[in-house]
Amino acid sequence: MNRNWLRNQWQQLPEAAVRRLQAGQLRHYLRTAVLPFSAHYGELFRRHGLNADSFRTLEDLQRVPFTTKVDLLNTAKNPQRFKDFILVPDPKVLARRPRTILRALAQGRDSVKQDFESEFRPIFMTFTTGRSAEPTPFFFSQRDLGHLAIAARRVVEICAARREDRLLNSLPFAPHLAFWLAHYAGTAGGVMMLSSGGGRVAGTEGNIRQLRKFKPDILIGIPTFVYHLLHQAAEEGVHCENLRCIVLAGEKVSDGLRHKLRDLGHELGARPLDVLATYGFTEAKQAWPECPFPHGEPSGGYHLYPDLGIIEVIDPQTGKTLPPGQPGELVFTPLDARGTVVLRYRTGDYTDGGLTYEPCPYCGRTLPRLLGNISRRSEVREMNLDKIKGTLVDFNELEHVLDDAPHIGAWQVELRKINNDPLDLDELILHAQKTNGADETQLCRELSERCFTHVEIRPNRILFHSSDEMRQLLGVGRLLKEEKLVDHRPAMKSTAINDVRSVTETETKT
Ligand SMILES: [Zn+2]
Repeated sequence: MNRNWLRNQWQQLPEAAVRRLQAGQLRHYLRTAVLPFSAHYGELFRRHGLNADSFRTLEDLQRVPFTTKVDLLNTAKNPQRFKDFILVPDPKVLARRPRTILRALAQGRDSVKQDFESEFRPIFMTFTTGRSAEPTPFFFSQRDLGHLAIAARRVVEICAARREDRLLNSLPFAPHLAFWLAHYAGTAGGVMMLSSGGGRVAGTEGNIRQLRKFKPDILIGIPTFVYHLLHQAAEEGVHCENLRCIVLAGEKVSDGLRHKLRDLGHELGARPLDVLATYGFTEAKQAWPECPFPHGEPSGGYHLYPDLGIIEVIDPQTGKTLPPGQPGELVFTPLDARGTVVLRYRTGDYTDGGLTYEPCPYCGRTLPRLLGNISRRSEVREMNLDKIKGTLVDFNELEHVLDDAPHIGAWQVELRKINNDPLDLDELILHAQKTNGADETQLCRELSERCFTHVEIRPNRILFHSSDEMRQLLGVGRLLKEEKLVDHRPAMKSTAINDVRSVTETETKT
């Protein structure tokens, strides 16, 4: 009863109700699905003297130790570690349950068996991305695909798509959550969708052709690629009079980029565009969107689904759960997942605005929302340019600074050694495409000053390129995801290079 209430009323529950219903759902989920059938958590809970009844309120969730990305990695001792996180039902345990017996009497044994198959048997997978570690598979059962469809339909609803809209999905075709969630957004949302496969499958030209012919109302994609697509389309004089919304996934979205995309929309003859971001990651098997908000106002944040999972914000140092409104690291616990299940998963992503349970000022929904910017761990790691005055540069901050910089469009930061000599100084070269016929000398001065003010480093050189050259540099249509930071320093110590690689790893988490 309570579970149905949480599912049906997910977008209109105040904080106290959400917390009470989530605690009840968590107990039920642990008791019936996770603790009996998860090798990892069964053992972990036993070691910590915990069982489902240990969780009377949501605060009790803090008694569960965190799970991190490292816990899921295979080791020499356990080369198939990911399997410990897959729920594997024990038929004997299921058969003994009174509910199973009653259902078998009412519907017949075969029907019950089929239901369990659909609940537990893994039939679909996505992979984590990130170049530093082996991708980890995440398994979905039929029931998980049902949840994926629910989450996807909600993205469509919250982004205010209409039945008569046409969606162009330009996310790269890959076994990654983002592409499949978008796919389900069309099918489960009942909206006409064309998935182009992204730049690498269809090329920029192929995607532009779809803009011309399919005339989408809504365009879905990775920010860097969408920027290129619309820029090139504008250069070719394409008209996108139907386009009214862009939904972005896979990278964070700065205010500067939103402005630039709206300007491009104007050039393409579109109506004033809503540029909406989504946040999600493989381990959550879902993503959360922003709702449309007036231009110039702060976003209403990412709208969470309280029936499908719990997001906690924790102090990354102490691990303590923080109250609403506090910045911190995001931790995720599913409430009804099968297949691969991780509890209290530390994402390594940081929110600077924290959680709120207040009704959304724009769409009026009452549900938990994540406010402010989210920075991802892979981008927060500092790149150590130790030979440039020992300055540590935060790529996350530099990315914001450059995305927000006026008069430039696409950009790329390149690291080199002077004269290509491994022992010589590092140099940072900024490649950029200037817009609006800005004066180069003036723009160089402004960009250099801007970088120095925000990240205390000046590019050694700033080189301007045509949009075609920028596309080549960034690998648009060649790479699954465009490269905004490249390291061309010759290898001297492999560890140093790996450090920088970890910075350049921009993960498509959704
Ligand atoms: Zn809203």
